[in-house]
Amino acid sequence: NAKKTTQNSYSFYDLQFKKDAVYYAETVSNLKQAIEKGEFELYFQPQNNAQTGTIVGMEVLLRWNHKGKMIPPDLFIPVAEKSGLIVEIGNFALRKGFKTAKKWHDEKIAKGRVSINISARQLTHLDFINTLKSMLQESGCEASWIELEITESSVLENPDLVINLLQKIKALGFYISMDDFGTGYSSLSYLKNLPIDKLKIDRSFIMSIQTEPKNQIIVKTTIFLGNELGIHVLAEGVETEEEHSFLLENKIDSIQGYYYSKPLPLNKVEILLQA
Ligand code: C2E
Ligand code: MG
Ligand code: MG
Ligand code: MG
Repeated sequence: NAKKTTQNSYSFYDLQFKKDAVYYAETVSNLKQAIEKGEFELYFQPQNNAQTGTIVGMEVLLRWNHKGKMIPPDLFIPVAEKSGLIVEIGNFALRKGFKTAKKWHDEKIAKGRVSINISARQLTHLDFINTLKSMLQESGCEASWIELEITESSVLENPDLVINLLQKIKALGFYISMDDFGTGYSSLSYLKNLPIDKLKIDRSFIMSIQTEPKNQIIVKTTIFLGNELGIHVLAEGVETEEEHSFLLENKIDSIQGYYYSKPLPLNKVEILLQA
């Protein structure tokens, strides 16, 4: 109903829309070139046992090395998802992630699983299960070395299809986690009906844990729920000593965040694994 708003806000909307459309088209064309030129890189962020600090996993996080600048995923993943390019870009992260897991196992420096983000569009793509199978063969990687991170929004779009896909993925031997838990349309029935091994409590609940009593209750209760259901619980975005001790007191399993380490390029993260 844009025409009913004032002249000013209408033209602002119009302008913003044009700007967004131009940004979108430019980014799509830049992303296509980036795929051809191989401008994507993997960074890795450790996940640590909350009690001992030992590394128990590594999350793969994409970076776009564009004209000397490292572009974070929040600036290009949404465009990649909308345009469908996420299938190709996501396959790059999978292939390279599998290869890295295999390398770390060969070198006997692997600590826990390599965990890879999967967007809704990738998961529900026709060939996804076959893609996973052929990448396992190609890389010599074992499914049990890999964790796949999905989000609540993936499930929401097509629950029956997703349950079926996740069961197939689980049967192949992969570990499955629910990323950004609590931010989407969380449903407790997911915890009952989906083959989920791990919950990753979203950073937005953790960063305000000190100041928001409600978040303390939500986090505590989520950890309790996971523990009782036999689902591993990880907290994302832990930065401070206070956050860490609150989570430890409430029996969190593992932690991912700047408290232990920022995401690092391969050579730097391998130094941590060798230590
Ligand atoms: P995510 O999967 O929830 O990843 C965690 C994000 O939180 C990462 O941002 C990480 O750098 C950031 N983070 C971790 N600890 C802290 C902390 O202590 N403080 C703060 N401020 N931030 C922290 P990043 O690397 O920018 O990635 C953003 C999102 O982009 C990811 O969120 C994920 O949804 C998406 N993404 C990244 N790589 C891929 C990929 O290969 N495929 C797909 N489909 N999505 C990806
Ligand atoms: Mg993730
Ligand atoms: Mg997350
Ligand atoms: Mg996130």
